[in-house]
Amino acid sequence: MREQCVIVGAGHAGSQAAASLRQEGYDGQILLVSDERDLPYHKPPLSKGFLKSPDSPALVLRNADFYRDNAIEIVYGATVSEIDRQAKTVRLGDAKRLSYTQLVLATGSRPRLPALSGATLEGIVSLRTLADARRLNELLQGASQAVIVGGGYIGMELAHTLTALGRKVTVLEAAPRVLARSVAPEVSRHVHERSVAAGIEIVTGASVAVFEGVHGRVSQLRLEDGRVFAADLVILGIGAVPNVELAAAAGLAAENGAVVDDHMRTSDPAILAVGDCASFGHWQAGRRLRLESVQNATDQAKNAARTIAGRPSPYREVAWFWSDQGDMKLQTAGLALNADRRVITGSPETNAFAVYHFRRAELVAVDSVNRPADHMIARKLLAIGINPSEADVLAGPQRLKELLSQAPAVLEHS
Ligand code: FAD
Repeated sequence: MREQCVIVGAGHAGSQAAASLRQEGYDGQILLVSDERDLPYHKPPLSKGFLKSPDSPALVLRNADFYRDNAIEIVYGATVSEIDRQAKTVRLGDAKRLSYTQLVLATGSRPRLPALSGATLEGIVSLRTLADARRLNELLQGASQAVIVGGGYIGMELAHTLTALGRKVTVLEAAPRVLARSVAPEVSRHVHERSVAAGIEIVTGASVAVFEGVHGRVSQLRLEDGRVFAADLVILGIGAVPNVELAAAAGLAAENGAVVDDHMRTSDPAILAVGDCASFGHWQAGRRLRLESVQNATDQAKNAARTIAGRPSPYREVAWFWSDQGDMKLQTAGLALNADRRVITGSPETNAFAVYHFRRAELVAVDSVNRPADHMIARKLLAIGINPSEADVLAGPQRLKELLSQAPAVLEHS
């Protein structure tokens, strides 16, 4: 049989895997199976610019010509429901089977839903896909009081977007601070204060107990401590769970995601997994984890393409992420998981500062607000393994650039 790579899922990772396979010279057939009906698109704008201008055509990752010119066939509206590893086929929902010589799982993740009474009332939504964003846009037309459950990235981005659209917004966060899983306490505090100043109500330590409605439509939420919040629109932003059931049902090693090695191979070498659905050993964290970011989806897809093309290289990319919230551009490079010390440069008062995280003398991550130079330099420092001193950090980006310039040979390869 001629080589045929089937890619399950046409999000950031699946679309990139198809493109990178061609760039790597793969000349077999490529089938990109998508359970959605749109050309693969950028997800980040869905919680940011999209709701402000839903008719903007700029969402697509690559235009239709790209897939045609590169002989990448997109199978739209098709859900892969089963993998037969012996026969090397996948079954589409309608019982049709596709053969593969290589299979790439790029199934992403889906919103975590609360197991609470009333959670399925009309007017309660989550945001993952373009279809979700369109639905949210419709609901917004008749809504004036939105409650967002979850003060993570998506929740806080939506809070700013909806406020800019003139809606009254309350964010209910169960943890003691917003963005608690993602950034330093100093950044959380800054985002909290600036969001409140922008008109957003934020309630931390708030655990929702029940959603209540009238005639099947949500009208309020009740917290465990008895407080009640009125709402004609509720958006759930309490995290995501990996779409790993397909891999697990096929007997592939799976835990919090499909388990992959340094080259994105699952426990079956003919099957790879990339992006939000993949659990991988992170070189910096020293343990297995899953990352939900465009950077990770894109870079793992490129890595998988190299593996399939017979040029495997270990996945060693620096993790990075961004989030736009009102007049704050948040960027994070690296992982602060085991950090034990923080150095702050710049000032929250001017809405521009960065937090450098260290584990002993080692730089492990940098969170920044409106300090893009710190972010870009941090990515390079982390990639090369240069550890600035506290004095270097406080001296500012120019000093850090000097440190980088002292390692020119390594930099060329980073
Ligand atoms: P996805 O993009 O989710 O794609 C997976 C695709 O597979 C989906 O289309 C899914 O429907 C499909 N699929 C699943 N199972 C099957 C099946 N069995 N058969 C067929 N198809 C299937 N990241 C950032 O770095 N910066 C940001 O600012 C940012 N903002 C975000 C805002 C929003 C609203 C969202 C939802 C995410 C955001 N992210 C952001 C995260 C980022 O978009 C994800 O990490 C990224 O999309 C992961 O890509 P993926 O291809 O792994 O998964």
